[in-house]
Amino acid sequence: MTTPRLEIDLGKVRHNATMLVERLAGRGIAVTGVTKATLGAPELARELLAAGVSRLGDSHIEGIEGLRRAGVSAPMTLLRTPMISQVKRVVAHADVSLNTERATLEALSVAAGEQGTSHGVVLMVELGDLREGIMATDLVDAARMVVGLPSLELVGIGTNLACQSGVVPDVANMAELSVLAETAEAALGVRLAVVSGGNSANLGWALGGGDPGRVNDLRLGEAILLGCEPLHRQPVEGLRTDAFVLVAEVIESKIKPSQPWGQLGQTAFGDKPRSADRGLICQVILAVGRQDTDTAGLVAPAGITILGASSDHLVVESADGLRDVGSELAFGLDYSSLARAMSSPYVARVWLAPDREGSTTVR
Ligand SMILES: *Cc1c(COP(=O)(O)O)cnc(C)c1O
Repeated sequence: MTTPRLEIDLGKVRHNATMLVERLAGRGIAVTGVTKATLGAPELARELLAAGVSRLGDSHIEGIEGLRRAGVSAPMTLLRTPMISQVKRVVAHADVSLNTERATLEALSVAAGEQGTSHGVVLMVELGDLREGIMATDLVDAARMVVGLPSLELVGIGTNLACQSGVVPDVANMAELSVLAETAEAALGVRLAVVSGGNSANLGWALGGGDPGRVNDLRLGEAILLGCEPLHRQPVEGLRTDAFVLVAEVIESKIKPSQPWGQLGQTAFGDKPRSADRGLICQVILAVGRQDTDTAGLVAPAGITILGASSDHLVVESADGLRDVGSELAFGLDYSSLARAMSSPYVARVWLAPDREGSTTVR
């Protein structure tokens, strides 16, 4: 089979999504299934919908357009603030977008009017992480503006934490979001259908047993795909962390000294050269590199230690002897490695789907 390749076990992804949808339903919280790490793959989207997510979310309009072309008709949210240059595509294909800017909202309203449609708006509030968001004191004015614009529908408010600054979603900032929702509702005499509390980093708060208040939606990507939460990168109880593996092929396998020789300058990517002298080792080279994935986020299989990587070579040490040239090794991935591998034209994707007998086959 072609290498390098990402093998994606859709049964494990479905398991993770189902568990999260069920547990959060018990807290009155729906799940927006986020497809962006897979560049809006329809294979993933179908699995998420089968698991019961309420809608799909992607950061790129290209991802949403691809899902529409593949025949996916579920409600879809554009997660990244729309570019004004893309508003026509946004209103044509996304039901809802997350927004913070007046000029963009006006452009969305005009585009939706021209297309004879109505576009849903979730206003994002800044609660301290310092990425996207309207300052809380400006929220009511922004909400009033949306209500006043033709062809836009104010669907709700939301926030995003833990991405830019690592601010932890907690009882205090989530309660503030609920208060802001109620303040906006009281000021405008409307009911907000969606209060979107955040991403996978919100799971500790959401499943912690406290009152979710008005929060009734989370936008989940990493927890569904990789089974872990992004704050401490710990596995979420009951979820599979091995749905994705990156398989690479051995192109060289030799006994070599563990230490380089000659005068040492910088390496191709400026990292420090190897340290301890361990005498002779089994050094194995795999045909995958930093152009294909974030090699720092790869998780090596038992007996393998990653020594370094350049654009197109991954150099590892094998504790269990030399590996056959042409044989394969499978690595786990973190979110960064996964997102990059998905974006590389050199990395193939193999979707593994459970068949009726429960065993896994290539779809
Ligand atoms: C990427 C993203 C998400 C999903 O984040 P995960 O940590 O993968 O769950 C949610 N909301 C927004 C705005 C995003 O950009």
